[in-house]
Amino acid sequence: MKTYKICVIKGDGIGPEIVDEAIKVLDAVSHKFGFELEYDHRLMGGCAYDVFGEPLPDETLESALNSHAVLFGAIGGAKWDNLPRDKRPESGLLKIRKSLGAFANLRPAVIYDELINASTLKSEVVRDVDILVVRELTGGLYFGQPREKKDESAFNTMIYTKAEIERIAKIAFEAALKRNKKVCMVDKANVLETSQLWREVTSQVAKNYPDVSLEFMYVDNAAMQLVRNPRYFDVILTENLFGDILSDEASMICGSIGLLPSASMGGKVGIYEPIHGSAPDIAGQGIANPIATILSGALMLRYALNEEEAASAIEEAVKKALSEGYRTKDISAYDAKEICTTAEMGSVIAGLI
Ligand code: NAD
Repeated sequence: MKTYKICVIKGDGIGPEIVDEAIKVLDAVSHKFGFELEYDHRLMGGCAYDVFGEPLPDETLESALNSHAVLFGAIGGAKWDNLPRDKRPESGLLKIRKSLGAFANLRPAVIYDELINASTLKSEVVRDVDILVVRELTGGLYFGQPREKKDESAFNTMIYTKAEIERIAKIAFEAALKRNKKVCMVDKANVLETSQLWREVTSQVAKNYPDVSLEFMYVDNAAMQLVRNPRYFDVILTENLFGDILSDEASMICGSIGLLPSASMGGKVGIYEPIHGSAPDIAGQGIANPIATILSGALMLRYALNEEEAASAIEEAVKKALSEGYRTKDISAYDAKEICTTAEMGSVIAGLI
């Protein structure tokens, strides 16, 4: 039987609760589709700092590097907020992304008909929204050197190479080929030299994809258009900082933050994680929505393990659970027939596989 090794990082806050449900569902599909998932559980984030004094212990990174994929919950919490920057949970996340070469962050933002009223936008504006944000993840302002903070001033560096832009642009065009064949590259080329290079390189890459249309949009306009007419977008390609902000905006127009998955890939091993954080405010109460993590498991099956049928089965089961009226607390105001705990929602979805 085909066996895949998965490095599982549950993390902090609601991380353990939601990852347990993803595993429940993954076990159901692996059983049904005839493959085995071997889980190697490792620590990262605040919980790793408490044990090892580091947010990303070497043994966790080693396990990730030797796995087919990383399934990740979330990290962080007030307890670790005042540590030096390199000891904070977020540093562990940035380091693992960089070490795995996960330079591309894919975030689908899709509206479920059953939850259309969960969006803060009018239903006629958001119906049929289906956007894929492709965000560059390991370059730009978050990593650029030099960087410095003094008492009276501080600075960061935004730097991109042609090769970094080329490889992420290819991912966006490849994804667009399988969708509505539209790439919108978002930048600030009227002000930033880095954006001008992005335009030049992306235009070159576009020549290899004659079936895909490419347009450019300034980031301020894109932020506006996302709430004005989100259906306009198919694939949004953008650099790290703009992508961080726009992907949150795109996901929020879909309603609950607890529904949306992401894939961080491009290197040998990808990281599959919900878009939300560790939600310390609801941790341990059994009310977190596990769907984003369950759907991240589906992305893992599709992109890392090439188990497309199993991935689609998870996505169908999630849709079915929602259409049958199962809701966690965060989405309970929308056509709920039964309010579920985190574990009950996982069991319902696993049962529908
Ligand atoms: P958050 O995403 O954790 O929570 C924002 C709000 O959404 C909260 O009200 C929370 O209860 C709710 N929420 C989040 N996930 C939910 C779910 N699955 N079901 C129901 N409700 C959910 O963001 P935050 O509060 O700004 O950050 C909390 C901690 O998470 C911080 O330490 C932050 O640094 C960290 N964080 C981690 C990641 C990551 O691990 N990738 C990402 C973002 C934030």
